[in-house]
Amino acid sequence: MNRLIFATGNMDKLREIKEILADTGYDILSMKEAGINVDIVEDGKTFEENALIKARAVAKASGSLALADDSGLEIDALGGEPGIYSARYMGEDTSYDTKNQNLIDRLDGVADEERTARFVCAMAAVFPDGTEKTFVKTMEGRIGYKIAGENGFGYDPIFFLPEYGKTSAEISPEEKNAISHRGKALRALAEYLSGNN
Ligand code: IMP
Repeated sequence: MNRLIFATGNMDKLREIKEILADTGYDILSMKEAGINVDIVEDGKTFEENALIKARAVAKASGSLALADDSGLEIDALGGEPGIYSARYMGEDTSYDTKNQNLIDRLDGVADEERTARFVCAMAAVFPDGTEKTFVKTMEGRIGYKIAGENGFGYDPIFFLPEYGKTSAEISPEEKNAISHRGKALRALAEYLSGNN
């Protein structure tokens, strides 16, 4: 079976990826499982560039098909912040309770219809022959007025989904996977890989 290495150290992401890519006919390994250890500087200006930087580095180090993702939250009223800096916003070690409350405070006085935001996920695949393929998908919503919900992670407790009347931290993981930026990008990638293996 051909190997596919996913450039992440995040075990939750890896579990989700293994589930969604299970039928693509690839043996899916983490960098650790593949014995790959590369220092990657994510200095791209877009989610897509950053995903490609990671996938290229792992493809080069392993000689196998490599996948990587990059994701974050874009808030329109803040000019797209925190964007590609989502994980680093206010510092990597600052709690998401603090980050989320700060974003709510920065939107003080901003009306409902101006609070639009989206999660973005870029998935990149780099093949051993250098072929590159990327998929960028979004989940649209609005920034809420208070922190709500225990599911999910990161900015989910302030990401309000008008069609559910709940934040993405209040819906179940299955519901979120069905509509999320990451779920959509992974399924697009799975479909592409199934036709290329
Ligand atoms: P990375 O793609 O692992 O670098 O993560 C980017 C950051 O974006 C995460 O640390 C979160 O802050 C945020 N983020 C990305 N996707 C989600 C999501 O589905 N829910 C909440 N926050 C997210």
